[in-house]
Amino acid sequence: MAENNHYIYDEERCEFVPVVYDRKKKVLHNISFWLLNGIVLASIGIAILSHNIGTPAEIALKAENQVLLDQLEITKTSIISLESQLNNIAELDNEMYRSVLGLEPISYEERMAGTGGADLYSDFDLYSEDASEMLRWTASRLDNLERRLSIQQLSFDEVKNYYNDNKERLRHLPAIRPVPGILLSGYGMRVHPVLNYQRMHHGIDFRADIGTEIFATGDGVVKFAGRRGTYGNLLEIDHGNGYTTRYAHLSSFTEGIRPGAKVTRGQHVAYSGNTGVTQGPHLHYEVRINGRSVDPLNYLFADITPEEYQMYKEIAESNPMSMD
Ligand SMILES: [Zn+2]
Repeated sequence: MAENNHYIYDEERCEFVPVVYDRKKKVLHNISFWLLNGIVLASIGIAILSHNIGTPAEIALKAENQVLLDQLEITKTSIISLESQLNNIAELDNEMYRSVLGLEPISYEERMAGTGGADLYSDFDLYSEDASEMLRWTASRLDNLERRLSIQQLSFDEVKNYYNDNKERLRHLPAIRPVPGILLSGYGMRVHPVLNYQRMHHGIDFRADIGTEIFATGDGVVKFAGRRGTYGNLLEIDHGNGYTTRYAHLSSFTEGIRPGAKVTRGQHVAYSGNTGVTQGPHLHYEVRINGRSVDPLNYLFADITPEEYQMYKEIAESNPMSMD
């Protein structure tokens, strides 16, 4: 038996006697030894782990926290993009719809009315500094967006009512593109491509191959249709209330287009060309009030989206040259 392999020296008996083991005691001793070891090792392990990466519950919470913070970052980007889209719409509203219809523009201060008040979000102080800051930012910017959207909605309602009440008069306002082409150059001081010096460009230039259909941009009466200096073949329409439009460098006019002829918005009135002084075929288009030119980009309100308006403005501002 393995238990009898161990001997002990008995001094009274002056001999070696086999050691008698208590089996139960030994098993208990073994169990308690490993248990104790296990507890000590596990405690050390947990202490090390929780110091460095946390308990499994903490690890899960930390991961969840990170996902939420990441999501907030994405929300932040979306809010910034929405704000910029709303800015474009507000700009279009003021510069085109409201100003052309004769309504007072809504000032920046009015549009931002009632924003601020950081104390509204003091509940977020409970969280960590980073999270609290991000939550405050998100909540306040969303509130701000909501307020600005409702102001914009009120403005559009006003514009719509005004338009409906003045439909007949507004049919005469130039309000569409004279040709469905890409914009080449904008209104304002531009370098003339042929004369090669800076001068006032009284209109905007659309790309249009020779023979492209040109449309009247509002109801009116033909004032001039013929050759005029650097304009080449020019069509001028009188829309009443001091408004006139000019379509230049045309190749020809459609049948019946002569001074005194009535035209309606969207009517095909001419073909584009390359007559007069130009750098190439295109349509030069002007809007004038009491003889003075204005930026035709603000007179496209019946057929332009905020995105197109923004795109046209960028093209108009970025090109230092005109086509004529
Ligand atoms: Zn031009």
